[in-house]
Amino acid sequence: MADPHPVTVAVLDERTVRLHELDLPPAVNGEIDVDITLAAICGSDIHTVLGHRPAPPMTALGHEAVGRIAVAPPDVRDLRGVPLRVGDRVALSMITSCGACDRCLAGLTMKCRSLFKYGHASVEQYPHASGMLATRVRILPGTPILRIPDALSDAVMVSAGCAVATAGAIVHAASPRAGDQALVLGGGAVGLYTAAMLSSAGCVVTVQDPSPSRRDLAAALGLRASADSASATNGVEPSIIVEASGDSRAAAAAFEAAAVGGHVIGAGSVSPGSTTMAVDPAILVTRRLRYSGVHNYTADEFRWSVDWLLAFGPSLPVDRMLSRPYPLERIGEAMAELRSGEVPRVAVDPRLMSSRAESSPQS
Ligand SMILES: [Zn+2]
Ligand SMILES: [Zn+2]
Repeated sequence: MADPHPVTVAVLDERTVRLHELDLPPAVNGEIDVDITLAAICGSDIHTVLGHRPAPPMTALGHEAVGRIAVAPPDVRDLRGVPLRVGDRVALSMITSCGACDRCLAGLTMKCRSLFKYGHASVEQYPHASGMLATRVRILPGTPILRIPDALSDAVMVSAGCAVATAGAIVHAASPRAGDQALVLGGGAVGLYTAAMLSSAGCVVTVQDPSPSRRDLAAALGLRASADSASATNGVEPSIIVEASGDSRAAAAAFEAAAVGGHVIGAGSVSPGSTTMAVDPAILVTRRLRYSGVHNYTADEFRWSVDWLLAFGPSLPVDRMLSRPYPLERIGEAMAELRSGEVPRVAVDPRLMSSRAESSPQS
């Protein structure tokens, strides 16, 4: 029997983020342990810390990461059926579902009645090491996981299981055709990845965001960028409108902007009860609009999104989409940088913990 393994994880303790040490018992029953090589702080981690969403005491934070398998049971395979072995580099889903409840059977696996979300459970609750802002995460059997090649950097792959896969789910809902006009409201990580994916599908995409730095980033991705809806699409009504900002005024404006027969996809507002939107329902009726809400993703959408990253990741300006990596022990500063809004994602490299180095060896 192996000894417990020491794990350091960022936790939300009361209203404070701090590091917590735990002794992780040996993996059993198909669990996979992954040593994190790079994690990213997501806006929803900030929502958790600020109390905008319910969080149990001692929440293990972080759900966006890439790493290498440290412990794997025999004969375990990834989503593609590829055997997984110790040392393999993997992208991780942030959710796992039962596959058997009514919602899972209806294809709504991301709304499984016994859904488990990494980065949202207490360290006091099984599987304990469930946060990815950590040196190691314990992956439950059935969690979507994909072996990935060494060719692409951790910085390219780190958002695969949250922002990129959510964008993939939005694009699946949109079913874009080449030449479609698309408007993406909000140039955060989800908005930018969605816009880049729609563009790679042949759409003419505009990102609308009031922030000049976010518009610069959209331009660096080869996208059109606009500060306001009046000039967003040069008078061409978009048939696909994605609301990725979480701002209720933007959500209402999405309906106003849509072409007749257009499809509005909402993905930015994820805290029920925190906001309301005033929309004239006659706009939806008389323009024959469709609305789809997208929250999280299926395993197929995760796999599609990782494939998209493998194809298009090398051309993404990830050095501008992600901060320089912080050591885990500077998690408070890292969270403050994300809240400043300068970069869509802030990187944390748990291997920097003891070295306090300023730069990171990226694998
Ligand atoms: Zn996230
Ligand atoms: Zn289920």
